[in-house]
Amino acid sequence: MKRSALDTIRRWALWSAPRRVVVLVVVVEIATAWFSAAIWTDSVTRADLLRFGLLVLLSVAYLEVTRQVEHRRRLFANTSGYTNMSSVWAVAGAIVLPSNLAAALAALLYAHFWLRSWRTVDGIKAHRVGYSASTVIASCLAVSAVLRVTDLTWDHTVGTIAVATGLAMLVFRIVNRGLISAAILLSSATYSPAKLFGSWQENSAEFATLALGAVTAVSLVRVPWFAVMVLPAVFLLQYHALLRDLVQAATVDGKTELLNAAAWRQLAQRELSRADRQATSTAVLVIDMDRFKHINDTYGHLAGDTALRAVADTLADELREYDAVGRFGGEEFVALLPDADTHAAANVAERLRRRIETTEILVEGRNAPGMQRVHVTASVGVASTPAKAADLDDLLRAADNALYAAKHGGRNTVCVAPTAVAA
Ligand code: GH3
Ligand code: MG
Ligand code: MG
Repeated sequence: MKRSALDTIRRWALWSAPRRVVVLVVVVEIATAWFSAAIWTDSVTRADLLRFGLLVLLSVAYLEVTRQVEHRRRLFANTSGYTNMSSVWAVAGAIVLPSNLAAALAALLYAHFWLRSWRTVDGIKAHRVGYSASTVIASCLAVSAVLRVTDLTWDHTVGTIAVATGLAMLVFRIVNRGLISAAILLSSATYSPAKLFGSWQENSAEFATLALGAVTAVSLVRVPWFAVMVLPAVFLLQYHALLRDLVQAATVDGKTELLNAAAWRQLAQRELSRADRQATSTAVLVIDMDRFKHINDTYGHLAGDTALRAVADTLADELREYDAVGRFGGEEFVALLPDADTHAAANVAERLRRRIETTEILVEGRNAPGMQRVHVTASVGVASTPAKAADLDDLLRAADNALYAAKHGGRNTVCVAPTAVAA
């Protein structure tokens, strides 16, 4: 029995993460566990226990009712941008309960989620759930501590309630996101503000969740049973999140996180119509990686995927926010540049080509152990419309022909379609 438990621990995916991530995860988990154990015997009142019981009931009811939705979200959502609504109960607990009960509530929440929902979804690693649980417990403890230090008692003024709940939401978000960002920073090679601070959508969803938590807290103190009224709002929030995940799954390419071909086409079509109305020119770039088959053959398909992702990241980083970038298929990308004439587009293409050429990509070697540095190149075909816009397919065809010429010209070059494509 003991041996099999040890074996399970040895097989945890955590140990294959970079060492600095392992250290962070283990330190945060031990620190929260130790601190929770230290305050375990703090005294609690009957009113505290009643509130605790109510929050447990609400969170259990919430999870049991939304299990299907949660399950589906977990299948579709990419794991990095995933938020769940359990913070509603966690932050409410952090505001109204003593620290030990707040920590216990957060731990129960995650244990319940794990047992009833996440355990059955492939690809959700136990150590990730363990770390998430620890970050939430740590956030609750921080909120408790700040509210105690600032000594915001629940007297009857609206002002103190507003300050206390606002402060609680802020502290919860900062501690929770800080610990998650630290793990992301330590485990990935590329940095982007969205990765670090979360996307705008994630933050607004989290704000809505925390606000509902604050409402729950106020209700628990004033009219405890009224907190049940929060449940429908949490359900709606959950469905909204599912919808967002489904839209994301339908429009974003999973491997590169760029737009997929269908979504890119739709966006490009819209941009072309707009350019037509405003009589501006639009350019299309078709970017194809050179001798990519060779990368796959030499280093394996997983290494190929890493290289593909690296080029996609480079494109997303190098192009402007409103340049639509998509994965057209295989190792071929497309970008639409609004308000760009042939000359400007050719410059952008050349900048991209050079950036791709100089980017060092670390891939897992197939034969030799450890990471290996590889460089890839790409050829780019450029086509642009004159002021009177052309058909998207004509534009793509012209860019594709230019790409063909670039490949024939020896690869790792930019080729521009001879004349702007007219309607
Ligand atoms: P060229 O310079 O002429 O473009 O040569 P190439 O090898 O890049 O082009 P080719 O069309 O002959 O081969 C494309 C390769 O891209 C074949 C396929 O195995 C690989 N590929 C397509 N999609 C993926 C993918 O998602 N992951 C990986 N690893 N490889 C892919
Ligand atoms: Mg290719
Ligand atoms: Mg190709």
